[in-house]
Amino acid sequence: MDSSKIAFYLEQSRDLFIQTSNTIWEYAETRFEEHKSSKLQADVMKRLGFEVCFPSSSLPTAFRARYGTLGPVIGILGEYDALPGLSQKADCPSQHPLVFQGSGHGCGHNLLGTAGMAAALAVKHYIEDTGICGSVIYYGCPGEENGAGKALMIEEHFFDETDIMLSWHPHYKSGLFNNSLANVRVTYTFHGKSAHASLAPHLGRSALDACELMNIGVNYLREHMLPDARVHYAYLNAGGTAPNIIPAEAQVFYAIRAPKDRDTRELKERVDNIAQGAALMTGTQVTITQNAVYRSFLPNPTLDQLLIKHLKASTPLRYTEEEIRYARAFQLEGSLPNAELSIDPYPDLTLDRKSGISTDAGNVSWEVPSGSFMVNCYANGSPLHHWTVTAQGKASIAHKGMLTASRILSSAAAELLETPELLHSAREDFKKARSAVL
Ligand SMILES: [Zn+2]
Repeated sequence: MDSSKIAFYLEQSRDLFIQTSNTIWEYAETRFEEHKSSKLQADVMKRLGFEVCFPSSSLPTAFRARYGTLGPVIGILGEYDALPGLSQKADCPSQHPLVFQGSGHGCGHNLLGTAGMAAALAVKHYIEDTGICGSVIYYGCPGEENGAGKALMIEEHFFDETDIMLSWHPHYKSGLFNNSLANVRVTYTFHGKSAHASLAPHLGRSALDACELMNIGVNYLREHMLPDARVHYAYLNAGGTAPNIIPAEAQVFYAIRAPKDRDTRELKERVDNIAQGAALMTGTQVTITQNAVYRSFLPNPTLDQLLIKHLKASTPLRYTEEEIRYARAFQLEGSLPNAELSIDPYPDLTLDRKSGISTDAGNVSWEVPSGSFMVNCYANGSPLHHWTVTAQGKASIAHKGMLTASRILSSAAAELLETPELLHSAREDFKKARSAVL
């Protein structure tokens, strides 16, 4: 497989990809509202020879862009949603939101989606140049953050025609991304009885008390969870702003994570019981609503080896003195302020690298054999879901990572199209891994 054709195409078109990513950064649209971002990408794909459709009326910002009608089909996943509350001035190493309480690309999905799109375009060029038999589909996926958009796309059969799925995520360290925590999102809504808090407190039943007791219960649960499990919560409704009115309704939003799907289900049951206990204690009722389920990533050893090979070929990354200086200021705000390198050019090539995060690409990995990886786009230790990541999203370091990711994705895709044994082996891995669990 001659990857120089791919590298040449990506280099030649770099301005288009950088511009696309920067524009999506500016749009900063949150889950399921990514109308301008998805249209921008879809228009580029259409103009450059892909057959594009938005097939779902219930997911208007999800699209499929396909090139080719023959041979095996390689799918590439993309995202473009931003996060609420993470608005931040570009390149600014102290917190300065562009819009008060506005949204921002604090998870780098402007880079994620654009690299996927660029990779699919590079694969199209490779197919045209070499005449190999194969097709490529880029999936524009909405609502990864707090929406598990790909789970909804699975229900609508978006991925049925794909043989292998590839994806990536920006990070501050390059390496495989072949495991993720299963994650279930649940809202607990407590219904009580309002009353004057001073005149007739005995008549009231506080929904806010129930939320608080539930959170205390869950905080005691922590000691008895699996070491890698995680539980976090945020108030969606604290019951109002008047302390002299007993709140009739309050709502708390939970994310419950564990390494395996089954562990997460068990943990959720325990959290549900605590919520019921809090309702009993306070004389309120609770409604439990499961909003989204992110499955753990099903690793595929064949695809892991293939991605390691292409990661190795594309790294270490090279940075200028100016980039190293730029990263230093952001490094101080992150989790590795004292690390010697302000930006880490070296990949971690271990096969069982822990990611500690959740992704709805995990849901796809149970439907289609999937491989995924991370590429360094930020200063060392920059935490995802943080304003510092928004700030760095239009920098040359981020663009370097994005273009490297597109090169790895497209080279791996081309190798898969050219090597039927690899496709076969990835399918066998998938069957084996699924049957071991199901
Ligand atoms: Zn993300």
